[in-house]
Amino acid sequence: MATIGEVVEAARNLGLDEVGISDHFVLYPDGTDIEWSMPVGRLAEYVDEVLAADSGHGRTRVRLGIEVDYLPETIEDLRAMLRPYPFDYLIGSVHFIDGFPIDGHRKHWDALTPEQVDETWRAYYARIKAMAESRVFDIAAHFDLPKKFGHKPGVDLTDEVHAALDAVARSDMAIEINTSGWSLPAAEAYPAPWILRAARSREIPVLITADAHTPKYLVRGFDMARRLATDTGHTALAVYNRRRRKVVAL
Ligand SMILES: [Zn+2]
Repeated sequence: MATIGEVVEAARNLGLDEVGISDHFVLYPDGTDIEWSMPVGRLAEYVDEVLAADSGHGRTRVRLGIEVDYLPETIEDLRAMLRPYPFDYLIGSVHFIDGFPIDGHRKHWDALTPEQVDETWRAYYARIKAMAESRVFDIAAHFDLPKKFGHKPGVDLTDEVHAALDAVARSDMAIEINTSGWSLPAAEAYPAPWILRAARSREIPVLITADAHTPKYLVRGFDMARRLATDTGHTALAVYNRRRRKVVAL
């Protein structure tokens, strides 16, 4: 796993105007620390590190973000925990539904019956809707994450997707075009083009993220994502400063 310094250094070498750091934070109901996330007790230190990286690197602004799991059991504690810090943006995501790890390993999905696959997809969109309704977050992460390992729903979930998008629009959130999906069995960015069009029709802003996890992938797929945004009707990208959003023309 890369350090914050390594990511910022890579952004500077690429000549980027700004880079957003969004490490994972999961406040799991039973208090377990999730291995791919920062330990819960590290939050203050994380914030200090990102703020220090910003002051140390001339031209490339470093934005203080964080990708936080929405879990209905802990959302009020989470809201209180995040409040003291000067975040530029909060990304809300759903990686767990009642203990099931959505993007953990394909073996978890392979073990499901077709009915359970459908149910998991349905539950996922219900969680995305609830995540938006919590109004804790600025950006909805990987909107159709359950497609990661290629397990498509066998039923039509269009209504569920529209309901989740309506909630995102009502909460004035943006959604990310996450380019990591192109390198996974899903073989397309998150979310699918039709969801981006449906977002556009609700005037939900988009932004492009690499979900990089390593400096090597910092801008992976950005050109393709710009084309995808344009092709689905978007004309601008969202940027954040202290949780205030601006849009810049594509
Ligand atoms: Zn994520």
